[in-house]
Amino acid sequence: MRGESVVVVGAGQAGCQVAVSLREQGHRGPITIVGDEPAKPYQRPPLTKAYLAGETDLAGLSLRQDSYYEDHGIKVLTNERVLGVDRAARVAVLGCARTIGYDHLVFATGARPRPLPIPGAEHVLNLRTAADADEIRKRLHNQVGLDVVVIGGGFIGLEFAAVVRKLRHEVTVVETQPQVMQRAVTKDTAQQLVNRHRSEGVQILTGTGVASVKEGLVELTDGTVLVADLVVAGIGVIPNTEVAQRSGLATDNGIVVDAHLRTVDPRVHAVGDCARFASTITGGLTRVESVQNATDQAICVANAILGSAEPYTALPWFWSDQYDVKLQIAGLTDGHDHAVTVGDPAEGRFSVFCFRGGRLAGVEAYNKPIDFIMARRVLEQGNALTPEIVARPGFDLRSSMQQQAA
Ligand code: NAD
Repeated sequence: MRGESVVVVGAGQAGCQVAVSLREQGHRGPITIVGDEPAKPYQRPPLTKAYLAGETDLAGLSLRQDSYYEDHGIKVLTNERVLGVDRAARVAVLGCARTIGYDHLVFATGARPRPLPIPGAEHVLNLRTAADADEIRKRLHNQVGLDVVVIGGGFIGLEFAAVVRKLRHEVTVVETQPQVMQRAVTKDTAQQLVNRHRSEGVQILTGTGVASVKEGLVELTDGTVLVADLVVAGIGVIPNTEVAQRSGLATDNGIVVDAHLRTVDPRVHAVGDCARFASTITGGLTRVESVQNATDQAICVANAILGSAEPYTALPWFWSDQYDVKLQIAGLTDGHDHAVTVGDPAEGRFSVFCFRGGRLAGVEAYNKPIDFIMARRVLEQGNALTPEIVARPGFDLRSSMQQQAA
């Protein structure tokens, strides 16, 4: 309802978007965003890219100007945490027993870096918040010729390694799995990324973990010892579910919500990295870590609060920038059982079509933005693509779509 009060727990991409969408759609009631960082909502993706490279400052990352919140009657509490939610009384509890009443509460609590379970983990920096990036940026920009060790060859590890090379430091990436970005991409894409990093002088060690970190040294599980002036980890994240759990809501690798992103309490929703939702795409409970997911789920929940509840059906998509490589992924490719690569990976421009049970589940476009755009359309509209069609010599996604439409 348009005059009801909304409390958003978490001031990241998803939390900010809930408030913005509510106002854009004509919500008139009070809106409060509670965030535990000092800054008002900002974009995280540049933290591993332009921000770290020193090409932009924090103001350049703001999701909205400060005046936007004032002009739109959105209260943003910074450096504040919601410690609990009393759902019977419909209040969010802050420090010193202060409370904020609500008609609707939205968890947008995000995720935090997975801790590294090894001796010396206190010497390892994470890269999730602007404060994390500031600390790392200071070290990278104030010194020359550093030996940097990156633990984890995922999104953060590889994007970070690319920036470290740009700043002319030495960098080694240590990845426990046999393949980098194993969670997110196919073998062909992973191999091209590795080739590209190696050609830039990055050392990538796969299939080995870190046993311990001491000041200046990283010992690997295979006995290798690396010199390290700076150690940064990106080994995945853990969703922030504790407050929801304490308020009696179901949590299981995320705050459990239905296809409408609603908890069992119809006045409480969850969105973004922290939400494990009943996905109409996978048919099961799914948690997606991406800007697209945060934004689209926020819009979905804002609409629900305003009385137009619809299931969340948006197609997931992701991207990663490393050097001049633009990797774009449409759909959810995990659990695929067949992949067809179109184009020559050695040329640095190709797409991988991933199928699950004979149906197209997602496409990785490596420096092929046109395939990414077409793939999103194909996946959203439904399609008759099979591995056989895609594997035909000369297959081109755009032409194939044009033929289907004719
Ligand atoms: P990730 O899941 O992408 O990668 C983690 C990597 O660490 C995996 O390859 C994993 O096998 C490896 N790993 C796990 N334990 C390890 C260990 N003990 N030693 C060495 N390797 C280990 O997670 P991330 O890179 O930490 O990113 C965290 C979050 O940030 C994710 O939500 C990610 O989607 C997001 N992010 C996204 C982008 C993007 O979309 N471009 C960029 C940066 C961050």
